[in-house]
Amino acid sequence: MLSLYVHIPFCVSKCRYCGFYSTQYDKVIADQYLADLQIEIMNRAELFEQHTLSSIYIGGGTPTALSREQISRLFTLLNERIRIRPDAEITIEANPNTVRSKKLSHLRKQGVTRLSIGMQSFSDELLAVLGRSHSALQAITAMGEARDAGFDNIGIDLIFGIPGQTEQLWRKTLETAVSLRPEHIAAYSLSLDDGSWLAREAEAGRINLPDDDVVAGMYETAREYLRDSGYEQYEISNFALVGRQCRHNINYWNRGEYLGLGPGAWSFVGNRRFANIADVAEYSKRLRRGVAAVDQEEVLDRDQAVWETLFLGLRKTTGFDLEQYGMLAGQRSLEILQDRIRELDGASLFRIESGRLSLTAKGALLSNEALIRILP
Ligand code: SF4
Repeated sequence: MLSLYVHIPFCVSKCRYCGFYSTQYDKVIADQYLADLQIEIMNRAELFEQHTLSSIYIGGGTPTALSREQISRLFTLLNERIRIRPDAEITIEANPNTVRSKKLSHLRKQGVTRLSIGMQSFSDELLAVLGRSHSALQAITAMGEARDAGFDNIGIDLIFGIPGQTEQLWRKTLETAVSLRPEHIAAYSLSLDDGSWLAREAEAGRINLPDDDVVAGMYETAREYLRDSGYEQYEISNFALVGRQCRHNINYWNRGEYLGLGPGAWSFVGNRRFANIADVAEYSKRLRRGVAAVDQEEVLDRDQAVWETLFLGLRKTTGFDLEQYGMLAGQRSLEILQDRIRELDGASLFRIESGRLSLTAKGALLSNEALIRILP
């Protein structure tokens, strides 16, 4: 199954922890960008002809920084050239201060079925630490307005491990999140991207990050509290009401194919993984000169495919099927994997149940370490 990711590289302002490629929203540049996106969509016509999409994810940046007219244009581009299943999941990422009632209704009319709102925290002090451009009240208001606009599938993102965040403040954020009853909650520990303002401050010793133990405790709190509130964990950081998992992300973790459009967007098609140049101006120049926007590419061999199956499969709480793993990696590799897991038995990082390998709660908490210990 091929899914589509469309990158909108514009933000209202830069968050202090963010190292993603994005640039300040400007109407003229965004108009030009949509014209470039049209060229890239046309260049991919052959691939689109082979597929009917059941999942599209419009991410960023802040896609909802686009005006309503620009959003209409984007959907015209997609609908003109791409076959989309009537029951497709079409997600757009939103920032609370870039969506009001009119824009939300407009998104619904364009066919958006799922909203992913970056709320991050319900403490204004912590939002300021993160450099977010919205308040807690704006986030709560956006949720209500999204419901009024007819959205019945809403995900919200939260961050824990923020400098100055206590266990009590985190629990309060979780309580507020659950009281809003979104269909999906993603809870990530703060990761400071290279080059971000917070990463530089932390390196210079001007801010203190919470201890690993404190962060681990917050993760455990989230797992327990969300489970008790009816949210089933289906991935290391993702929780959903029954039947409301994000189809698009599940495709990533199942190692399904995806095409990414826009600067910095990654794709995985066949056994090739490739990425577009992460610069709006250069992306535009290339496409207008008739040159491909791709500037990184690797062809994955069998060992890499095996490693990815392991790495991505273990992100899901259901893990992966050992028999299928054996067919992909070979019987000998499967035996080696099972031996390693037996040797690690005392560490309680993995479980094997009904022929599937998955991480335990402890393993999920120490996922990187757990994976390193079973590297093929
Ligand atoms: S975290 Fe999201 S909203 Fe903030 S600067 Fe990065 S891409 Fe933009």
